[in-house]
Amino acid sequence: MSRRFTFMLPVVFLLAGSDATPGDKIPVGRPVPGANLGRAHMEGIALFREKRYAEAAQRFHFERLDNPGNARAVFFLALCTQHLDQWQKAEQLWQEYLLLDSDDPTAAYIRRQMAFCRKQSGGQADDNPRRKKPVWLNLSEQELDALGRSSSEQADYAVVSRPHCLVRARNEKLATLVADETEAVLKQINATLLNGRAFPHVIEVTVWRSRQAFRDNAGAPHWSGGGFSFQPARGSSPAQARIDLIQKTDDGRFDRDLLPRALPHELCHVVLAEFFGQKTCPLWLQEGLAVLAEYDRGRSRDKLVREYVKLGNTIPFRRLFTARTYDKEQLSLFYAQSACVARFLFDQLSSRQSLEFLEHIRSGQSVRIAIERPLCLKPLPGRIQRLEQSWRQHLFSQFNLTCYPRAPTGG
Ligand SMILES: [Zn+2]
Repeated sequence: MSRRFTFMLPVVFLLAGSDATPGDKIPVGRPVPGANLGRAHMEGIALFREKRYAEAAQRFHFERLDNPGNARAVFFLALCTQHLDQWQKAEQLWQEYLLLDSDDPTAAYIRRQMAFCRKQSGGQADDNPRRKKPVWLNLSEQELDALGRSSSEQADYAVVSRPHCLVRARNEKLATLVADETEAVLKQINATLLNGRAFPHVIEVTVWRSRQAFRDNAGAPHWSGGGFSFQPARGSSPAQARIDLIQKTDDGRFDRDLLPRALPHELCHVVLAEFFGQKTCPLWLQEGLAVLAEYDRGRSRDKLVREYVKLGNTIPFRRLFTARTYDKEQLSLFYAQSACVARFLFDQLSSRQSLEFLEHIRSGQSVRIAIERPLCLKPLPGRIQRLEQSWRQHLFSQFNLTCYPRAPTGG
């Protein structure tokens, strides 16, 4: 199927969308009549026509947040996503569209789009489109195993230094990999969340040889795979940033999670701790963004969220956003859901808007205001419930669940 053919039908929608009062001529978007099309939608259409797909996608995404069940916004969001070559995401959005509007006469067209997207993605997730493939991804199993051994007979740690880190590990190659990864991940976090603002300190990273050595020295909780600490500068003492990691799992093999998960996770914590300074970053945001910084962007934890979504037992947003301590009963869900929600919110924000969101949170504003201000959305008291509903709808399509969630009572 050629691309030309693939994108032929939407021209009809675009023409319809250009009409200020298109009324029933619009074949999609029954839940939101054409007469009620908002400013975001019209701007989205204009941007789409100018082929500014990333910006258009943002308008449609937030139109959808404002109005869960808005099939028309999902339709155009799917189209934009397809133009941005994010095939798996586009396929999920088409699925979401079908769930919203199953009687739509264009269903056959949508199914063709889905098949096309599936073929383009080759079953691969659009993970981490913002990152170059790291070196460690190409290492063989033997090479990875070797990273679990000490590189020399000496008991000393090898030390590798880079502009933003000083890494100590028992294996020199591992120390180099960790140092290079630290620089790459820091750059990525700063580019996506803080509008390119450079991290202003040197982080001391220690890779302890065992969990026991880690526990004895890092003071992190026993269940954690890594730890961090950050102390702002005080008087003449400079700021101190530190990360502690574990080289080997309990069976003595090199920990395969160290480079893709533990290191980026703790790095994100350090960046946020520095950014928030004396203020507190809400727990869901800290952990959500830290999981999102991991190489698979938290997708390995999605299965768990899926199970809870099916049962209707996810953590309500109001509770999630205000949690101040870790609920041991729901620890895994808390991490997985926080990442899933953060991905849903931040994926459509530009780096400048992400920074603005974080600045609002840092100044003590609510999540509602932190979302509304950067996006110039009008204040809406029920926005968090709407947001939660949009998120659940999105998950039903992402997870291929056929039963459609009902709106929460009173939402
Ligand atoms: Zn964490």
